[in-house]
Amino acid sequence: MDNCIFCKIVRAEAPADIVYENEDLLAFRDINPQAPTHVLVVTKKHFQHLDELPAHDLQLAGRILLSIKEVAQKLGVAGGYKVLTNCGEAAGQVVPHLHFHLLAGKKFLP
Ligand code: 5GP
Ligand code: ZN
Repeated sequence: MDNCIFCKIVRAEAPADIVYENEDLLAFRDINPQAPTHVLVVTKKHFQHLDELPAHDLQLAGRILLSIKEVAQKLGVAGGYKVLTNCGEAAGQVVPHLHFHLLAGKKFLP
């Protein structure tokens, strides 16, 4: 998608503090963190949100889930973190490219 900021980051046409990458996903720090650790795990392929993830590609869905766990391990927060994805404007989605917020840190977790 030409004008999608996350597609631009995936194509290295926009800067980001990248913490993890594999064939399916890129993870980078949120520009406006809501927790001591706030990373966005973004699919390299453009999907608007979870609804667009193809039902026939269960392997991709599984790899996404397992990659989020790997990002948490790499960041050293595997002991306690939250994962959240907003699906659609009504849910508060601002960037219409599938991404998962990974949030962790003493101030954030109760
Ligand atoms: P959403 O509400 O769509 O789930 O969350 C979008 C997130 O992307 C927000 O937390 C926002 O701070 C972050 N964000 C928006 N634009 C950029 C950007 O250009 N770079 C980075 N690193 N994060 C961004
Ligand atoms: Zn995109």
